[in-house]
Amino acid sequence: MSSVPVVRVALPTPLRRLFDYRAERPGGIAAAMEPGRRVRVPFGRQQLIGIAMEVAAGSELPDERLKPVFEVLDPQPIFHPATLSLLGWAAEYYHHPIGEVLATALPKALRLGAALECAEERWLLTPEGGEAAARGEPRRAPRQRQLLAALTERGAPDCGSGERPRAPAPGLTAAELDEKLESWREAARALFARGWLVRVETAPAGAAMPSSAPIAMSPGPEPNEEQRAAIATVCDSLGTFGGFVLHGVTGSGKTEVYLRVVERALGLGRSALVLVPEIGLTPQLVGRFRQRFAVPMAVLHSALTDHERLLAWREAFSGRARIVLGTRSAVFAPAQDLGVIIVDEEHDTSFKQHEGGFRYSARDLAVVRAQRAGVPVVLGSATPALETLQNVTTGRYTRLPLTRRAAEAVPPRLSLIDLRTSAVRAGISTPAVQAIERHLEAGGQVLVFLNRRGYAPTLLCTACGWIAPCRDCDARLTVHLGAGRLRCHHCGADTALPERCPQCGFAVKTVGQGTERIEETLAALFPGITCIRLDRDVVRRRGDMEEAMRRMASGEARILIGTQMVTKGHDFPNVTLVVVLNADQGFFSTDFRAPERLAQTIVQVAGRAGRGEKAGEVLIQTEFPDHPLLLSLLADGYEGFARAALAERSQASWPPFSRLAAVRDSATTPEAALAFLTEARRTAEDLRSDRGGSGSGSRATGRAIRLLGPAPAAMAKRAGRHHAQLLLESTDRTALHRFLEAWLPVIESLPSARRVRWALDVDPIELF
Ligand code: ADP
Ligand code: ZN
Ligand code: ZN
Repeated sequence: MSSVPVVRVALPTPLRRLFDYRAERPGGIAAAMEPGRRVRVPFGRQQLIGIAMEVAAGSELPDERLKPVFEVLDPQPIFHPATLSLLGWAAEYYHHPIGEVLATALPKALRLGAALECAEERWLLTPEGGEAAARGEPRRAPRQRQLLAALTERGAPDCGSGERPRAPAPGLTAAELDEKLESWREAARALFARGWLVRVETAPAGAAMPSSAPIAMSPGPEPNEEQRAAIATVCDSLGTFGGFVLHGVTGSGKTEVYLRVVERALGLGRSALVLVPEIGLTPQLVGRFRQRFAVPMAVLHSALTDHERLLAWREAFSGRARIVLGTRSAVFAPAQDLGVIIVDEEHDTSFKQHEGGFRYSARDLAVVRAQRAGVPVVLGSATPALETLQNVTTGRYTRLPLTRRAAEAVPPRLSLIDLRTSAVRAGISTPAVQAIERHLEAGGQVLVFLNRRGYAPTLLCTACGWIAPCRDCDARLTVHLGAGRLRCHHCGADTALPERCPQCGFAVKTVGQGTERIEETLAALFPGITCIRLDRDVVRRRGDMEEAMRRMASGEARILIGTQMVTKGHDFPNVTLVVVLNADQGFFSTDFRAPERLAQTIVQVAGRAGRGEKAGEVLIQTEFPDHPLLLSLLADGYEGFARAALAERSQASWPPFSRLAAVRDSATTPEAALAFLTEARRTAEDLRSDRGGSGSGSRATGRAIRLLGPAPAAMAKRAGRHHAQLLLESTDRTALHRFLEAWLPVIESLPSARRVRWALDVDPIELF
């Protein structure tokens, strides 16, 4: 026991605790240890950067074991108290160590110690330098002369007229110099040595926007009646929490509602946080926000470099950015004076982090954040998650329907093509080919959807039956004909495409279809018509997607073939036909959420048709034309489907009628993967019956927990590791969480835990 004042620090380690460090040392820096600041501390033989969480008068540790804080990195807390408390909540809810949770919420550059405030490097002319420039010196060094001239142009600070807005800051920033002059640094160093230049670091200019500045640059279309009602309902709630589900078919003008609500929040001096799914949607939506608003905006997405991410984060932190728009982790962005949160395409699975340690749902955390901040949250989708719709039913959220398409677009007609009774060539049925022909002749564009990239999913030897397998996964290798490669879509394995069977030497044959083959087939069927393909194989760099969009928009391309990538929010006003080539993947999965995903995909793809004035047609190829969920989707749309699917979930007691947590592990052998989870299950049973427990309340709560498994994953072997899963289910959320709290320390200390990699996933959205 020590009575030395300590600071408790959250460190990025898997240990579920804070670490004590001496808060005082000869210099006396205790006052600087305010919670939320970054500190650099010794940890074992290394140094770590952590977050000071609290200051305490003493520690459990004896004096001699307390080490000092090396450095306090921030002049002010890097986490605002509200963010810190949200992250604390998230750490508890997802049962994840706080240090790692806090690290997730920071851009990498800040985790590594980058400065919180950006300093701008500026070069200024000294009076001597000004005189030298006037004399045309230094004569023999043209680059130095150019540099002096450039700085002279910018002039000295203008202090004359008090009425005028502040003159541009004197001198030039390093960034400006980079643009003007090549290798200016060398010249600057020489001039600095002569006393003609000085270098200063300043806070960047242009901090606060004058309050009279306009917020919206363009008014946008006049909202229709339903949009007006939605806007009014959300705006009435500005200043208090409210959960709103903006349920509108694609093209019904949801984005327009977001823009109006954000405008109102900005008008009240508040900021807005807008969350969007991973790639695809971002460029278009960002464009619309930028066009509409004159205020600074910070954009945070996964394609940014670490430095860009840092800059955007700082814009938000400093309050300069009034709109923060970003993907998943932007839910932790330090938006100042938050007024409203928008989650676009709230059903999108990319909002759930399902890899790594800290597996959170950005959508769910957005709701929690809005609740704690006392602001409305708008969850927008054409196909809300069933959880979200259930929250409407129970009255937790308010549904704001947009039933009509804006801009007079007509909703598309959906119909099925029975693959069992239709002639099918290379994956495309005759009725589908005829429909494509009809629509092309009428001047329309066609979108063909297949959720499988590559040429063919299987390479087969017809003589001996050999099928090209992935060595490291329970999966087949996909043929990529153009590239001449065989690739595994699960582990990335990549080998040359063999011409002969490696087993018997007979010629090999491709079986099944991927987007690459569909492109080939359609090009052969419709010569002279330009087809383009959109999938991860062709969209590799920034700009590839925009290029494809441009070719569709200009009408140069008439047929677009794509994977999931085409379902994300792009406008194709002239697409009049959508063909879904294979609707059946959703019915074979062991995941109870598969039909929901399938229905969402169908509705989202269908939404790409007829966004202009022409009516759209949607054809869905299936081997199961009698499937009840598919029929309810066709007859009553997504809402009808949702009702039927929720009834099934309720009967089976799946979420949202229960809560789930999954413990997943992987190991080098199937036995080791199962051994840990089997032992984990045994300890869970002990805890449930309180045989191993402490006699606390865990028995009562433990009874409410159902244990399912362990079982190997449906695709057990991936990238050379064997995966398995143990599910915990309960209709009582509090009981489940109390149970996890008691149980996790137990399984963490199991010896078998050290032979596997494991993670807890609270509210998993994918089961395997
Ligand atoms: P969503 O986000 O639901 O897909 P958008 O907001 O993108 O829908 O709207 C679809 C199209 O309709 C856009 O081109 C948009 O500018 C236009 N639009 C939206 N609301 C209106 C309106 N009230 N009047 C006319 N056009 C509108
Ligand atoms: Zn063979
Ligand atoms: Zn593989």
